[in-house]
Amino acid sequence: MSFKEKGLLVVLSGPSGVGKGTVCKALRKRGTDLQYSISATTRKPREGEIDGVHYFFKTRDQFQQMIDQDKLLEWAEYVGNCYGTPVDYVRDTINAGKDVILEIEVQGALQIKQRFPEACFIFLAPPNLRELKNRIMGRGTETAALIESRMTVAKSEMELMQNYNYVVENDQVDKACDRIEAIVRAEHCRVDRL
Ligand code: 5GP
Repeated sequence: MSFKEKGLLVVLSGPSGVGKGTVCKALRKRGTDLQYSISATTRKPREGEIDGVHYFFKTRDQFQQMIDQDKLLEWAEYVGNCYGTPVDYVRDTINAGKDVILEIEVQGALQIKQRFPEACFIFLAPPNLRELKNRIMGRGTETAALIESRMTVAKSEMELMQNYNYVVENDQVDKACDRIEAIVRAEHCRVDRL
């Protein structure tokens, strides 16, 4: 099978609270032609969450077994719980020529970058990105301690962005979805996919 016949792996990631889940839900609602991987997690289900639909809920031991058996494409610990992407679903779906989107936090995205550099990495960024960037570049005039600490966090987030292929500002969910759909269409037209 040539690469062209394979689906794309789209990794949607970005800082906590930026709205990755909301954007993914909106893409689903639109009927965007993407397959959604279901992650494994050791987190307890929230009200209304169903095993095998929202997540595969695992004990720590079960999760460790998945790691030991190399069943996860990536995994990361996030605020005391483990999250990981089951590799079989991603591999089988891509091999069947369908595009898969992963909605994951940044450590996991960086692992995928190591193992699967041809994936399409989209960094979902908070709004006012340009303003943040200007501040980080030292053009701003803010000096307050609070702003400084925010800048430190923002700077590390900005640096991580360099590992991605695209940045999508999540100023409005609908606009973010439009941009992601445009990116996926463009990725399918890349010369190096011929
Ligand atoms: P939540 O507990 O709110 O459902 O998810 C917490 C964080 O885990 C979110 O940032 C979400 O994107 C991330 N996450 C969900 N599934 C995975 C996964 O399979 N791998 C990684 N690395 N992060 C994930």
